[in-house]
Amino acid sequence: MVVPPFAGQDVVRATPGLSDDKGYVPVQDTYQSKAYPEIYAAGIAAQVPAPWQTAVPIGIPKTGFPTESMAKVAARNIVAAIKGEPHPAGDDGAPLALLRDGRHAICAVGDRQPG
Ligand SMILES: Cc1cc2nc3c(=O)[nH]c(=O)nc-3n(C[C@H](O)[C@H](O)[C@H](O)COP(=O)(O)OP(=O)(O)OC[C@H]3O[C@@H](n4cnc5c(N)ncnc54)[C@H](O)[C@@H]3O)c2cc1C
Repeated sequence: MVVPPFAGQDVVRATPGLSDDKGYVPVQDTYQSKAYPEIYAAGIAAQVPAPWQTAVPIGIPKTGFPTESMAKVAARNIVAAIKGEPHPAGDDGAPLALLRDGRHAICAVGDRQPG
């Protein structure tokens, strides 16, 4: 299976300083934008810096499980912001990916990247 690279949305890229050149939003561990803390980005929209370079640039795979974890953290932080409470800590769960092709399934477990 060949999957084209994920890409950010034009509407995000069009906002000065909000995203990198791919349209991904650099975020804090609360999933608040670093440039606009009132904006939150999770899942594909969030920038995940690659900790390595490969001969063929493949980028960082982005999958459903981390997207859900990011969304929960972002939601908790949005609620705290609305209530005027301190932002709760970010996600510390293991990076997981569940991949299936209709007949088979793989569970991939990753290490957290430093920093
Ligand atoms: C072929 C393929 C296979 C995959 N297989 C797996 C797998 O087996 N397991 C797994 O865990 N992950 C898999 N993934 C990855 C997974 O689908 C994504 O990581 C996940 O969907 C990301 O969720 P998201 O909410 O960030 O983005 P999305 O699911 O893309 O949701 C973004 C939503 O925003 C909407 N949107 C975009 N622009 C606007 C706008 N301007 N205004 C309003 N709405 C807008 C879009 O229509 C879309 O509904 C696969 C991806 C692909 C492409």
